[in-house]
Order: sequence, then C-alpha cells, then structure tokens
Amino acid sequence: MPERRKRGPMIDFLLIGLILTLTTIILVIILSKDDFKFQKISASKETNSDSISSNLSTESSAFPGIRIVTDVSNDTLTPFAIHYPQTDNEAFNNAVLQYITDSKENYLTSMKKNKDKEAMGELNISLETFPYQKHYYSFVLTKTLYLGGANQEVSTKTFVINNETGEQINIKTLLQNDENNLSTLAAHVRKDLQQNLQLKDALFNDEFLKAAEPKWSNFSRFAIADDSLQFYFDEYEIASGTVGAPIVKLPLSLINPLLASDFQIAMETIKPTIPAAKGDPNVRRIALTFDDGPHPKVTEQILNILDKYHAKATFFMLGSRVQYYPDVARDVLARGHEIGNHTWNHPVLTKLTQEQVVNQYTSTAKELEKAINQNATVFRPPYGATNDAINAEIPIPVVLWTIDTLDWKHRNAQQLLPHVQNNLHNNAIVLMHDIHQSTADGLDAVLAYLQGQGYEFVTVSEILQYRQ
Ligand code: ZN
Repeated sequence: MPERRKRGPMIDFLLIGLILTLTTIILVIILSKDDFKFQKISASKETNSDSISSNLSTESSAFPGIRIVTDVSNDTLTPFAIHYPQTDNEAFNNAVLQYITDSKENYLTSMKKNKDKEAMGELNISLETFPYQKHYYSFVLTKTLYLGGANQEVSTKTFVINNETGEQINIKTLLQNDENNLSTLAAHVRKDLQQNLQLKDALFNDEFLKAAEPKWSNFSRFAIADDSLQFYFDEYEIASGTVGAPIVKLPLSLINPLLASDFQIAMETIKPTIPAAKGDPNVRRIALTFDDGPHPKVTEQILNILDKYHAKATFFMLGSRVQYYPDVARDVLARGHEIGNHTWNHPVLTKLTQEQVVNQYTSTAKELEKAINQNATVFRPPYGATNDAINAEIPIPVVLWTIDTLDWKHRNAQQLLPHVQNNLHNNAIVLMHDIHQSTADGLDAVLAYLQGQGYEFVTVSEILQYRQ
C-alpha cells in the first residue's frame, strides 16, 4: 500500500503531463487547421489598402497553363470587374499583378476623393488572349475607367509571353533588336493609320505622327495573333474619342521579314516542294486562273463546273469586289480553291507611287482577311504590269500566266477552248476572268478537253513548284 501511495502521485503527475501534452498537440493541430482555413478564405477575399471587399476566383482556361483570375467588387459604391491572366511563371504573374494593383488603387483613391459628390464610378479590365504558334500568348488588358461625370478613359496594356520558357516578349525581341526593322514597322503603322477610313477625320495630326515615330516605346503595346501583329493606342491618344481606342493590325505576311525567326510564318515561297510527284513524267498539270471577281453569278457557275471535274483552280480577287461579295469569296475557299490578291481596284501598278502600290496590296489583304479569315497566297498585278520595285513590295509570290485566253476581248464561249488548245503545254497557267458570262459558258468544254488529255487541274501555288 505505501508503495502504491508512493507511485500514485507519480503516475498522476505523468498522466497529467501526458494529457497536457496531448491537448497541446491537438490544440496546435486544430489551430493550425483553422489557420489554414483562414488563409484560404482570406485568399478568396481580396483585401487592399482601402479595404474594399471583393470576390476573387481563379479558373483554368482553354489555353494550357493559363489561368484566368476574376476580381469583382462587393462594394456597390466602388464597382469594378477585373479579369487577368496568371501562369506558372512568377515574374510574369507579378508583372500582371503590379498593373492590376496599381489600376485598382488609382481607381479607389480617385473614388474616395469623389465620395462627397456621390459620383458613380466604375473600373473594368477585360482580357483578350491570342495564342500564337506552340507556346506564345499575347494578353491584351483593356481598361475602362469611369470616374463619374464625363471622364471615361480607355487604355490598353499588353503582355506577351513564351509560356514554355517564361520569357516575356517585348517589341525589341520581336523585331530582332534592329533599328531598321523598327523604322520599317513604324512606316507600316503610320500608313495603316493614314489609310484607315474609320480614322480618317478623327486623327490628331501631330499626336499620331509622334506616336508612329520609330521609337521602341511607341510600339510597346502589341499582340501577335494568328494572322496579324496588332498595335494598341489609348482612347484620345492619337484620335478623337468618337473612334474609341484605335488598333492597327498589320498582316503577318506583310511584316514577316522583320520578325525574329521564331515568330516568322511559313511563306508560300519557302514551302517545301512535293518530291514524290515531281519526277513523274506521266502527270501533266495545268493551273486555271480566274481574275477580277468575285462575281455573285459567274463565279458560282464556274465553281459548279470545277466541282464537276474535281478540278482545283485559283481566283485572283479584287479587294473592292470582295467587299461586296465576301460570301462568294468564302465559297471559293470552302470549295478548296486558292485565293490570290489582284489589287483593290485594278490600277496599272507601274504608274503608281510605291506607297499607292503597297496600299493596293494591303487594303485587299485586309478585306480578304475580313472575308475569309486568311491572306491571299499569291499576287497578280493587273494587266501583268509590274517591275522589280513593285515585286519587292509584295510579300507573297507574284504570278503572271503562260496562256492568255483573251476571254475579256472576244467574250465568246466558243472561242475559249481554241485559245487554250493553240497554246497548250505542261505546267501552264491559264488566264481567264470570272466576270464574263461567256467564260463560264465556255469552261465546261475546256475542262472536258484537258481531262481527256490527261491533265490534272491544280492551284497556282502547286504548279509553281514544277515551274523552274
Ligand atoms: Zn485583272
């Protein structure tokens, strides 16, 4: 018994110690769990210097490795809705967050000043994402800041990233850090702004010329899309507010030579040839081409005849006609034919200034881009009138013809076939026009004859591979 008594307090002491230790451990676990929970909650409730509560949510996006964060204010007096991208790259994420935080703080500070006036304001930052090639992404953040009254500001911030390496791409990298490339780009941007009909009367002359000067900082807001390099200007920066925040879109085909090799697009001229068929002496090919369209009736009739013979052809279109008949242009493309640029309104290019030549090309390229969502792959000068200086301005292959059917002259369906027969040779390029009813009416006989002679009907780009 005395021994038990002796042990009793010791056991009690040990038990109490054990209980205390366990309790402490459990408490620590519970508290740390709560801590963890608390952190999670606070992460989804953004707090900032002005302690405006907002809902922050992060969603994965259709683009691999890109998450979209949405931050919406819970305060009805200071509404905002903000969308921005995050990736696995910390430096990029911080750069974006810095811009978002600054924008928010400026807004909230301005609203605080306005509080007495009970002015309603709003901050909206929207996000547009352009993927390019394998792992480039351009993010365009458009900020609309409204502080009550008449003060609305629209401005743009862009981030371009190589999502594989995490490298942020600036305009210097894109243009190979080459001042000459910068000058050429600046000239293109200036021309584009001058030729933009929408901006025509709205441009502030001094400001826009300054903004298009060849300075790296002038072109820091850009995005690379599938088919164009886009430059952004703020509202009122270079033009009056009636036209909003101007965007310049330069076709990649136009500026391809300026770009660092990683960003260049594969041009028709450097397309690899198809070696398998090249040596086959039994295959005869011919490229039928139709100029000056599209035409709502004649082009459609020609398309039906081509389909009948499973023939592919090339249509050199005028930008001014594509503008009227974009549906016909889309139909030509959908039925597997090649589309060429034939200038805007069919001038004799050799009589134009260099600037006018470029304008003829680019305005048509733009119209085609609008209609068929891609660029022409070949160019044909009206009347075949061209020279080295003109060819140097055109970024896609310049293609003439080897057989002239003179369909525009005789306008006689019966004469189409004899003109082809009399000049027929392998790898020929045949000139016709899809604006004359007689051409459509005489075409079936031409196709029937050529098919009988063992000819394959191919596009101009295809036949260029076989012509030396
Ligand atoms: Zn023509």
